Amino acid sequence: MATEKATKRVAVIEGDDAAPEAVRPTIEVIKSMGLPIEWTYPIVGEPAKQEFGHPFPPVSREAIDNADTTFFGSTSGSSGGSLMYLRWGKQTYANVRPARYFRGAKSPLADPEGVDLVIVRENLEDLYVRAEGELASLSNVDIRGATIRKPLAELGEGRYAVKVITREGTERVVRFAFELARRRRKHLTCTSKYNMLPQTDGYFRDIALELASEYPDVEFDTFIVDDFACRIITEPRRFDVIVMPNLYGDILSDAAAGLVGGLGLAASGCYGDDYAYFESAHGTAPDIAGLHIINPTANLLSAAMMLEYLGFRDQAKDLDRAVRHVFATGELTPDQGGSASTEAFCEAVFESIERE
Ligand code: ATP
Repeated sequence: MATEKATKRVAVIEGDDAAPEAVRPTIEVIKSMGLPIEWTYPIVGEPAKQEFGHPFPPVSREAIDNADTTFFGSTSGSSGGSLMYLRWGKQTYANVRPARYFRGAKSPLADPEGVDLVIVRENLEDLYVRAEGELASLSNVDIRGATIRKPLAELGEGRYAVKVITREGTERVVRFAFELARRRRKHLTCTSKYNMLPQTDGYFRDIALELASEYPDVEFDTFIVDDFACRIITEPRRFDVIVMPNLYGDILSDAAAGLVGGLGLAASGCYGDDYAYFESAHGTAPDIAGLHIINPTANLLSAAMMLEYLGFRDQAKDLDRAVRHVFATGELTPDQGGSASTEAFCEAVFESIERE
């Protein structure tokens, strides 16, 4: 973890479609806090292609390497190369996605008060290794399913995808989740489809069970992922930190965001041993691009996670408190039933920080 006080360098990639409309005023709020942060803007996507002939040129990679962290706006493709680098290149294996209810947020629950959980999604493995292909190309390997017992290549025209769960990849994300639980309410849940997929999801759970003995102070339980999907809706307050393989984490963290008020609130940080980057969990909201109504909360809360990572813990708390204050008292963006613009919301957050 970075230590406090010394000047920190943050690389900013603003992203595509509506993402920059949320990223820019978020950065303005952070800038107004007067912290010793130097901001750099690596050139990526179309402008990089025009200037350097590549959407993610070496100079931009260096800018990321030379920064303490990166703040990333969602991408719909053009800055995808930089995202790949931030994730797989920097080995940011733990994707932390909090879902916390703020009074004033538009939750569909009758009683959302007190919902405060964090999904830790394994960020590099599982089906996201993206080893896909034609079934016919498997003719040289004798891979049979447990349910369809003939060689997969003999199933006719079709495709496959490989699910990869490694010991190292699982151990590190589960340890990360246990450590996080230790700093919160000391309760970790592990979920996967371990009954149907004993060799992969079962392995993930077995490793978590193994590691649980090293954390006797953390209460530990496991649920099959479909059961968990139901429980997170019917008893969301029961959960504190939940660790799971990549695909389930991707899907269920959006569902968790829905519980507390929607994607506009979905913050996210991706942590490795040597680097971390921060981005909202939502996409680029292309349908509202140009309207300046994208809810910047996910970006503001991701920025608060970033400040904490950089060692600016008090300021991270101030920012978090200010967002909560505006939710409780201020005008919200249209996704929350209000009529504030993105900039007006950020302005209200800024004023709330100033008043404290
Ligand atoms: P992408 O392919 O980039 O993921 P998408 O449209 O599939 O884009 P999102 O960008 O996550 O997925 O958007 C899903 C829906 O949620 C859209 O209707 C979008 O406008 C809305 N949405 C997402 N983020 C926000 C936000 N911060 N504020 C308001 N609405 C949002």
